[in-house]
Amino acid sequence: MNCRPGCGACCIALSISTPIPGMPDGKPSGVRCVQLTDDLRCAIFTDPRRPACCAGLKPSVEMCGDSQAEALAYLRWLERATKPGFEFGKTYSAHASNVPAVSFVGHCFTWATEGGM
Ligand code: SF4
Ligand code: SF4
Repeated sequence: MNCRPGCGACCIALSISTPIPGMPDGKPSGVRCVQLTDDLRCAIFTDPRRPACCAGLKPSVEMCGDSQAEALAYLRWLERATKPGFEFGKTYSAHASNVPAVSFVGHCFTWATEGGM
């Protein structure tokens, strides 16, 4: 699937552990990225300083759902579900009764699906 215009959920809900221009220490989950524009686009989409994990995060039905609200709910749940013992490069599986199962590999997001926005 393609990234949904006017969403930006993953640029808010996810934590990023690598530097972002304007956020040298990355960003915590739930904090809006300073590079997310008012119309919910990435201001540094083609800039080489854009974190590699942003470019590597691919939209998916599981993650993005049908709306920004669904994506935010899913991503917040996933952040909570994967916090303890997170390791870069490790493959994780997560599921809950209200969201579909998903597998993903630890990346510079606290979690990340394989693959960008
Ligand atoms: S959650 Fe999905 S649809 Fe929303 S901005 Fe991220 S990749 Fe795009
Ligand atoms: S894609 Fe752009 S706006 Fe989104 S988190 Fe990454 S740097 Fe920030």
